[in-house]
Amino acid sequence: MKYFSLNDKNHKVSFEDAVVRGLAPGKALYFPEEIPKLSQDFFQNLNKYSNEEIAYEAIKEFVGDEIDKTSLQEILKKTLDFEFPVVPISDNIGTLELFHGPTLAFKDVGAGFMAGCLGHFVKKGNLGKITVLVATSGDTGGAVANGFLGVEGIDVVILYPKGKVSEIQEKQLTTLGQNITALEVNGNFDDCQDMVKKAFSDVEIGEKLQLTSANSINVARWLPQMFYYYFAYKQLAERERKLAFSVPSGNFGNICAGMLAKKMGLPIDHFIASNNENNVVTRYLETEKYTPKKSVQTISNAMDVGNPSNFVRIMELFQNEFKPLAKQLSSYSYSDEETRKAIKEVKKKHNYIMDPHGAVGYLGLQDFLAENPDYYGTFLETAHPVKFLETVEKVIGEKVEIPASIRDAMDKEKKSFEISDYSELKDFLMQ
Ligand SMILES: *Cc1c(COP(=O)(O)O)cnc(C)c1O
Repeated sequence: MKYFSLNDKNHKVSFEDAVVRGLAPGKALYFPEEIPKLSQDFFQNLNKYSNEEIAYEAIKEFVGDEIDKTSLQEILKKTLDFEFPVVPISDNIGTLELFHGPTLAFKDVGAGFMAGCLGHFVKKGNLGKITVLVATSGDTGGAVANGFLGVEGIDVVILYPKGKVSEIQEKQLTTLGQNITALEVNGNFDDCQDMVKKAFSDVEIGEKLQLTSANSINVARWLPQMFYYYFAYKQLAERERKLAFSVPSGNFGNICAGMLAKKMGLPIDHFIASNNENNVVTRYLETEKYTPKKSVQTISNAMDVGNPSNFVRIMELFQNEFKPLAKQLSSYSYSDEETRKAIKEVKKKHNYIMDPHGAVGYLGLQDFLAENPDYYGTFLETAHPVKFLETVEKVIGEKVEIPASIRDAMDKEKKSFEISDYSELKDFLMQ
């Protein structure tokens, strides 16, 4: 499979190059040249296959012969080593829990798969050492640190804003050691992001290190997210009904992967992009105008994105045509107040504890189902509520149980280096 640049259809690279480079020239995104179709027979019999078998069938064409079958199966086995249950909430609503991975957020699958692929390419030999440089506002850092831990030939440097990530998130990225280094930046997330971008275009650094990024623009982080929708479909006994999925969205990588799965033949009827007040896509579907806006801070902070980078991929799936897209995608946006109220209500009515991101997904689904009662709806729970402990406990008025895996990390010692400006990052990378 070749991947082309969304800025220049003539610029084509292999899967390996797309993964190693992350971005095409001019900061453009890579997109697969073809979208394979799987047979209806396969979809109707999904429950006869294991998750690893399903994932292999779904991803094999995208990887092609660049990773041999056995190695690809091993990467998938390691990446998908936990549950993806659909938990019923009411008669017509279920939630797909994507937080059973090592860092309790859905990004574990993308980070694990990318680490596996990159590790494989490094081991094959002609790449040399690679440094993954990534800025995080919270969840990405932990998932990337965990995914790349101990992968030979790859060093990981994570920048995070001092005092602006939750205690659990900080522990997840500062306590692992080995090939993972955490840099604590005196500044906010935008400062971290700016320093990373500067490092990528720094010629002196480029001569010394082979840098790559690990956010959802990378095809190896984006593509495996389609598995969630296959795993959900496998479990949905309500398959006879029309199916809608509501996805709490920030950079729109997750929902875009779902729409890709549909294009491959997975029988999903409708998608709902649920937004917090960062609602550029909601406004786009209302007005047909795409106007990015500076992001505002909310309690569902992983979705505080003013200009979602994967939106161009969604447009590409629909040949940049508004009408067919608007037929398949609805979008709603909610305030923090509404989000808090939903967490409280669902706990009271259904005894289920949602995190703020899942709650936004639930709200979007509810509004869609009010107008489309013939559907069965699933919203994605993208993080475990303990990752947002303060918010959630305050709203529901009781303690949330902390899983054992997190309690271990909380007892470990934080190790990080503090930096304040770009020259300090550069000094660090050059020595
Ligand atoms: C990253 C993240 C999102 C947003 O996902 P996108 O693929 O960027 O749209 C939603 N919820 C949580 C908990 C996240 O960590």
